[in-house]
Amino acid sequence: MFAQSAQHVTSYYASTLADPIPLHPVLDGRLDADVLVVGAGFSGLHTALRLASAGKRVVVLEASRVAWAASGRNGGQALLGWSCDMQPLEDSLGHARARELWDTMRWAAREIRDLPARHGFDIDYCPGSLWAAVRPRRVALLNQARDEAAERWGYDRLSVITRDEMPEWIGSPRYLGALYDPEAGHLNPLKLALGLALAIGRTGGRIFEQSRVLDYRETSSGYVARTERGEVRADVLVLACNAYIDRLDPKLARRLLPVGTYQVATEQLDPELANSLLPRNSCVIDNQFVPDYFRRSPDNRLLFGGGCTYLGGIPANIAESTRRPLERAFPQLRGVKLEFAWGGHLDISMRRTPDIGCHRQRYWLQGFSGHGVLPTLAGARAVADAILGNDHLLSLYQRIRNPRFPGGERFAAPLEAIGKAWFRLRDTV
Ligand SMILES: Cc1cc2nc3c(=O)[nH]c(=O)nc-3n(C[C@H](O)[C@H](O)[C@H](O)COP(=O)(O)OP(=O)(O)OC[C@H]3O[C@@H](n4cnc5c(N)ncnc54)[C@H](O)[C@@H]3O)c2cc1C
Repeated sequence: MFAQSAQHVTSYYASTLADPIPLHPVLDGRLDADVLVVGAGFSGLHTALRLASAGKRVVVLEASRVAWAASGRNGGQALLGWSCDMQPLEDSLGHARARELWDTMRWAAREIRDLPARHGFDIDYCPGSLWAAVRPRRVALLNQARDEAAERWGYDRLSVITRDEMPEWIGSPRYLGALYDPEAGHLNPLKLALGLALAIGRTGGRIFEQSRVLDYRETSSGYVARTERGEVRADVLVLACNAYIDRLDPKLARRLLPVGTYQVATEQLDPELANSLLPRNSCVIDNQFVPDYFRRSPDNRLLFGGGCTYLGGIPANIAESTRRPLERAFPQLRGVKLEFAWGGHLDISMRRTPDIGCHRQRYWLQGFSGHGVLPTLAGARAVADAILGNDHLLSLYQRIRNPRFPGGERFAAPLEAIGKAWFRLRDTV
């Protein structure tokens, strides 16, 4: 795993900030709050902002820096739906309730566009995403997915791009067709997280960095969480620690497998070349089991991600291991300079289903399984609503069963790796 630290990772996103990233103080002493949120990624920040805006006294404790982990490092693709797709949700909830959850995803896609302007910050949002087929046998999935979205989930905005039309969308012969979603889009995730933190401060919430919660205990009036130099007493506790939950809550940790995944940003390309790679500036994820994903940055770089590692391993050279799939997708970029290369850890749940729930005023959000830009917002709405007295959405999530990984991380990681290798092999035929 990447060791938590006081520095953000050197990434393309960190390079886009005009000002140094604002520091929040370290917790020193005792504090009282209505709600304590542990973890300042999207899950914690969205929850905190919604609660602070509703007048709750909110404290956020972050072990490293705001958006130090996945939320400040991801591909920035704001895609509708969950990592597991709809079937496991329908299996757990039945059709009508699964449809309600789907509708919250459309709400999240709208909210991510509106929220920054409401709070006075910018996230470089661009509309449009493509789910692209690489193998001929996967082209049929595009029509199937479009029809299913319309018929089963009432979502009729998807359109299929045929092979003949593809050059207008992606400047690469590798892609044989795609499904276009106009309600999805892409954004700068670090700007989003830092904007949320700013908005929390403006609405009266308090954020403390480098304030790892070492442990917490339940008391007659709520929870007390302890850091190295202080403690917070709160009526309600929200755990939003993602792949780093670890010893803070071993029961939650056993339902997650931390997986590393990686990205690069090329040097700034000639604007014409950048435009020819993605003429409509949609973000792209392919429909292989182990997908590549990419998009254009506002300053004409290609941001390209894919690949994963288990058991905390990190590739010796992220740039070179990501160069191969990048050049396979865009041979015209052979030898391009990769100016930034970084990675992060995600929280895979056993069935890739969201793991969001509550037990005695202790709430948690996790299990986004590599697809969290919009799902964290939808999940945060459910948790914040429940804390404010309306637990309808949370009750839907609580019907989803999230089993623990058999044998824990040491056993599950090699199995997961073998499974991925098998599917990667299938991706090639
Ligand atoms: C490289 C990469 C690419 C990705 N690309 C995409 C994408 O394109 N689209 C998409 O939808 N999703 C993507 N994801 C997934 C997405 O980034 C995550 O699902 C989402 O950011 C999870 O947010 P979070 O707040 O739950 O967790 P995180 O952002 O991981 O935040 C958890 C925070 O909790 C803190 N913490 C942990 N333990 C403690 C403690 N004891 N005390 C205090 N603080 C603690 C951590 O320091 C961390 O800051 C990607 C992820 C990665 C790593």
